[in-house]
Amino acid sequence: MPDPHPDTHDIIQANRDHTLFSWSVQTQTNPIHMTGGKGSHFYDGDGNTWLDFSSQLININVGHQHPAVLEAIKAQVDTMCFAGPSFATDVRAQLGQKLREVTGLGKSFFTLGGSEANENAMKIARLYTGRDKIITRYRSYHGATMGSMTASGDPRRWPVEPGVPGIVRVFDPYCYRCPFGKTPDSCGRECVSHIEEIIQMEGPHTIAAIMVEGITGSNGLLVPPDDYYPKLRALCDRYGILLIDDEVMSGFGRTGTWLATQHYGIKPDIVTCAKGLTSGYMPLGAVVVSDAIAEYFETHFLAGGLTYSGHPVSLAAAVANLKVYEDEGLFEHTRDLGAYLGQRLEATKAKYACVGDVRYKGLFSVIELVRDKATKEPLAPFNGTSPEMGRLAAHLKSRHVYAYSRFNFLWVCPPLVVTREELDEGLAAYEEALALVDEMIGS
Ligand code: PLP
Repeated sequence: MPDPHPDTHDIIQANRDHTLFSWSVQTQTNPIHMTGGKGSHFYDGDGNTWLDFSSQLININVGHQHPAVLEAIKAQVDTMCFAGPSFATDVRAQLGQKLREVTGLGKSFFTLGGSEANENAMKIARLYTGRDKIITRYRSYHGATMGSMTASGDPRRWPVEPGVPGIVRVFDPYCYRCPFGKTPDSCGRECVSHIEEIIQMEGPHTIAAIMVEGITGSNGLLVPPDDYYPKLRALCDRYGILLIDDEVMSGFGRTGTWLATQHYGIKPDIVTCAKGLTSGYMPLGAVVVSDAIAEYFETHFLAGGLTYSGHPVSLAAAVANLKVYEDEGLFEHTRDLGAYLGQRLEATKAKYACVGDVRYKGLFSVIELVRDKATKEPLAPFNGTSPEMGRLAAHLKSRHVYAYSRFNFLWVCPPLVVTREELDEGLAAYEEALALVDEMIGS
């Protein structure tokens, strides 16, 4: 248990007075003063220890303050803090090689985060295909830069609309609330076949890529049926459309594999990643392109660059972070503990009236909350909240369990180093909160 910080309230006030917090009305922000962390926990200025069931922004996969990643960052800082993007460096060679190995693709272009990765992926797809349009899904988030924000399907895109031209949106594989009113056993995968119809209407020759999250994260963790990706891949191949797999949130061990799409046995043309690439220890994103696309740029101009593309300290953090995944068997651990988590979540669905659905893959999981299991009325409206969702979040906060909730969704995404005991401890707090919600809805 850390000591309370003597100036914690002044520090919070100074943060609020002089800085802007993202995605917020500033007077409604209530930041926690974070002072440190270790493994699955972090500490606040009042001396509290929090169980991090959200891995911060679902990115700190190896947990807080992993010594191997810290060491690698320090060593790189001592050797060489910066090299411009046109220089060759040791760490650039190492990470490029590693990403080729784990994705099965060709070459990597480095960015500083996920939004920039998607921005560049869309640009590369346009340059390579000579086509303009990008198909994305409604329940998606691809970032907060102009292009990636427009590409996002969720309401976070609304403030920049009409945004960049050429984005066409389609429906999602959301089986619990199938947009076509079907059930997975008899739907014929209309979530794919309607995309084909849209491709026909838009003109196949105008569509550069379909960009999807490997497994949709912040829009309710939508785990697609097993044959979704093979069908989507076939559709892309039929029309010469690239498949861009945004693995920013679902990649790098979160689901127990390098990429979420590896569960489905397909290979995308472009993978974008960030978050779990460095576990957030340094800012880094990557666009990993197929051999065919890499080959194209052997003789064509790559029109894009960033001062910090290939930042050596970020790359060193990534190389060390990926080694931690392998050295500590964290993906096996994630798959094992994920199976246990899945059972626990199914049990909450059986026990609590407010749990409409649970979806999970590895340590990537969500509880979807409803007012009524039969009608599936959401516990909070789309893009809104409710007193019940507020109560649930307040309870978890009072227990110092840091959890991500949005609309009628509550995520369970602890760091991949979480132990079974820590998982049980956090889930116990979740169950208390679900019981409170059941009381509120009168069940
Ligand atoms: N893509 C996905 C799937 C994400 O979840 C996010 C962020 O949450 C992004 C892209 C944007 O990444 P960043 O915030 O690093 O720019």
